[in-house]
Amino acid sequence: MKTYPLLIDGELVVTATTDAVFDPATEQVVGHASRADAALIDRAVSAALRAFPAWSADTALRQRTLRAAAVVLREHASEISRLITLEQGRPLKNTAAEPLNAAATLEQFADYAPEAAAPFEEGGKQIRIIRKPFGVVAAITPWNVPVGILFTKITPALRAGNTVVAKPSEHTPLSTLRIAELLRDVFPPGVLNIVAGAGEVGAAIARDPRVGKITFTGSVATGRRIFETAARDIKRLTLELGGNDAAIVLDDVDPETVAEKLFWVAFRNSGQVCFAVKRLFVQRGVFDAIVDALARRAERTRVGNGLEADTELGPLTSRTQYERVAELVDDARAHGARIHSGGAPLEGPGWFYPPTIVSGIGPGSRLVDEEQFGPALPVIPFDDVEEAIALANATPFGLGASIWTGNVERALPLIEQLDAGMVWINRHAEGSKQAPKGGHKSSGLGVEGGGAWGYEHYVQVQVVSVAAP
Ligand code: NAD
Repeated sequence: MKTYPLLIDGELVVTATTDAVFDPATEQVVGHASRADAALIDRAVSAALRAFPAWSADTALRQRTLRAAAVVLREHASEISRLITLEQGRPLKNTAAEPLNAAATLEQFADYAPEAAAPFEEGGKQIRIIRKPFGVVAAITPWNVPVGILFTKITPALRAGNTVVAKPSEHTPLSTLRIAELLRDVFPPGVLNIVAGAGEVGAAIARDPRVGKITFTGSVATGRRIFETAARDIKRLTLELGGNDAAIVLDDVDPETVAEKLFWVAFRNSGQVCFAVKRLFVQRGVFDAIVDALARRAERTRVGNGLEADTELGPLTSRTQYERVAELVDDARAHGARIHSGGAPLEGPGWFYPPTIVSGIGPGSRLVDEEQFGPALPVIPFDDVEEAIALANATPFGLGASIWTGNVERALPLIEQLDAGMVWINRHAEGSKQAPKGGHKSSGLGVEGGGAWGYEHYVQVQVVSVAAP
């Protein structure tokens, strides 16, 4: 079975110590990931630092290289998508777009031209404001969308002239390491380095004083640790963290139509989506109809191996995540919840948990208060919409939130009362290529996105002020 190498200073490095990676649908090993130690992390950061001056000086080279990388991703899209399904679990029909979207991100940033600030005169002095890259950027990524999230980070970082040391999650390193192999000859040595391993590898990169900026996507707990580490050198940070998104359904909706949409924005990728609907507040008049329609939709969902063509939802990516979802549902049941569908793990092998609709619990219950990051959705009734907004906001998270209504005019004055970085009316968990994506409160720091929104977080400004001699 293949051992996937790291990419350090343009060399593919297979290590003696490796980590087995499992297919969550079969619990079988699908490959081994090389694991970086302190010496390899040091080599990767040193190489990135050495490569920085030439890379940051040549805009045309950067644009050309990003375009060439996009070609490679497109050529190998089906191989990469299959690898994501194998290690992450999401159905093949959903992972198919991930390498293609990454290629589109590369193309978008290759073409992106940051708007230069016009020079101006002030008191006889000439002033110019320029943007400069940080140097070495560390990109640390989670397991739920391994390739998409990686390119959202490294593409603007590289386009702006930074060099990169990236680390994928220990649960899903193979797709990233395979991309490292494919891109080895595309990037000049040292510009893009990919190392792998568990949290301690991420922590060691984050600690390195030569790293100028850290971009991280993952849990709030890890984000907090990185924040603390970064404080020592005042490193720049982008943090995309967890969420506990609320959707508020008003009683003027058509329950059947809305339930089908709500189902997918809650359960896509088996609920392992940062801005999935994780708490559903439904106005009393349509509560029973919505719960019933969701439960029926859940019961007929085809849960299975993502490699099979008719699978709608795959397994949970890790045993830890699978056990956590089971624990949260069991806790809800023990506190008097009513389970309308699912409610127990499916027979293995594989970390399968069926879509589970839960009622009869509210704030104070773990399934409502914590981020479940899995296929179990608490549905909570409300009478007054102001009460629902207060409940939606009563969380340390602030990633996304939505209002569902038959009358958009009714929702418009309400939507801005939701304290979240992304709010939607009659949709949820949908990004935009041009708009920023980021969380309020504990859900993050800074934003990511296309164009200027993504780019500006990978540069710092320098004011050049010139007086006559
Ligand atoms: P995680 O925090 O456990 O791990 C994320 C990454 O950090 C992994 O690569 C891990 O190895 C590394 N890491 C762990 N400890 C570290 C440390 N001390 N220092 C540096 N790196 C360390 O998160 P996860 O379980 O992989 O991902 C799930 C979480 O990510 C959920 O909370 C989800 O909501 C969130 N997420 C957020 C977004 C967003 O855009 N806001 C997107 C996807 C996922």
